[in-house]
Amino acid sequence: MIYSEFLKEANLIDGAWVSSDDGGQIDVTDPASGTVIGHVPNSGAAETARAIAAAERAFPAYSAMSVTERSNLLRNLHKQIVDNVDALAALLTAEQGKPLAEARGEVMSSAAYVLWFAEEARRAGGEVIPSPWPNRKLLTTRHPIGVVAAITPWNFPSSMLARKLGPALAAGCTAVVKPATATPYSGLVWGLLAERAGFPPGVVNIVTGSAREIGNEILKNPAVRKLTFTGSTEIGKQLIKGSADTVKKVSMELGGNAPFIVFDDADLDRAVDGAMIAKFRNAGQTCICSNRVFVQAGIYDDFVERLSKRAAALKVAPGSDDGAEQGPMIDMTAIEKTEELIADAVANGGIVRTGGNRHARGGLFFEPTVIADANASMRVTREEIFGPVAPVYRFESEADAIRMANDTEYGLAAYAYTRDLGRAFRLQDRLEYGLIGINEVLIVTPEVPFGGLKESGLGKEGSWQGLDDYLETKYTCIGGL
Ligand code: ADP
Repeated sequence: MIYSEFLKEANLIDGAWVSSDDGGQIDVTDPASGTVIGHVPNSGAAETARAIAAAERAFPAYSAMSVTERSNLLRNLHKQIVDNVDALAALLTAEQGKPLAEARGEVMSSAAYVLWFAEEARRAGGEVIPSPWPNRKLLTTRHPIGVVAAITPWNFPSSMLARKLGPALAAGCTAVVKPATATPYSGLVWGLLAERAGFPPGVVNIVTGSAREIGNEILKNPAVRKLTFTGSTEIGKQLIKGSADTVKKVSMELGGNAPFIVFDDADLDRAVDGAMIAKFRNAGQTCICSNRVFVQAGIYDDFVERLSKRAAALKVAPGSDDGAEQGPMIDMTAIEKTEELIADAVANGGIVRTGGNRHARGGLFFEPTVIADANASMRVTREEIFGPVAPVYRFESEADAIRMANDTEYGLAAYAYTRDLGRAFRLQDRLEYGLIGINEVLIVTPEVPFGGLKESGLGKEGSWQGLDDYLETKYTCIGGL
């Protein structure tokens, strides 16, 4: 296998690749075929405590390194990723299932975040504040927050870590990482790449295994000063609560319920192209996927027709196949939930225009699905679908569209298609979302702040703000001058 060298079947603790204390392992399967591609340690609290202790020991020396040295280490890491993109993408597809082209895009995005934070580290200065007192100087300086714990999901197992490890390492923090159990290799490989890039032992530690045991140790351990998490809102809320006892700083990238709004005045071709990407990328398993498609009455039928045709023509195949556009879903639970949501939508008046069933390929493949006549009584209106299902709602006025779009506790991403400039700005004002794409859906890049409003999260990843989340500000007053 092209990725064999990068498939690490051990945990990285204090610079050593180790198994779990009791030797327990977890199978890792390829969702496209169901075959086991390897095993990873089933670690728990004790291994996590040692990883945290190692990160704590490594912190003083690492945080004291000059910013140029740290920046150079991140540049080395960037080069490691870029030089090995083909193998890393193949590894990602093998455990996660997404088409190889998407996996490659994700790995390159990881590299781009690392490079961005290598550069931002050098700009993380403080200020000299004009003093209201004579003979005093007032300064602010910025410092790495300490040991960071990062818990990441299976849908973007590489880039979600880049957005956390990149700024943590750039800021001078040391880290303990827990990748998702379904996709541990794209997490563990960061340990190998960090070693090759020259990061000292103990700076990056990675443990796989029981989410609850590892998570609880992270929460109760006072050495962990920051917890950064990407995953479901439900688990995020538990982690926020659990961080209270030791007053950790938290960053939370949680669920979404993205509206995708198409107005009568939109460029319809562009809107259909956008809807295909925003819905079916990664088989609909992204937190910024459009969950609810709102289409204005005048173009509703035309839009549904075009979207259904395009969805029906998607090439559903193993991610490693040439030209695959939609891979398998992550597991049988995801398939069953998708089926339940479709059945509920149909019971509430929805009309399946294409798809609606498990794919003829079997296994974890599911048909790209479009449901017309969607309405507020359906579960898909409130719940994150996380599957290749597009419910399409009809609306009459701009005010209706905005009201429906905001009628959710989530606030991550929103998309809208219109050629009316005034409307574009009104949407920007009124949509309660952290990321807004007007006539664009691929809007995420390291230069911009990614983060949700409302119950979709806390904090930003990317931009200067993404580094800020890993720094503390100290204020110093020097008097008697
Ligand atoms: P997803 O739907 O993406 O699997 P989850 O929130 O269930 O979302 O999982 C995201 C990450 O959080 C995964 O790495 C998972 O193992 C981890 N996780 C799940 N439950 C807990 C928990 N109780 N404590 C800490 N981490 C958890």
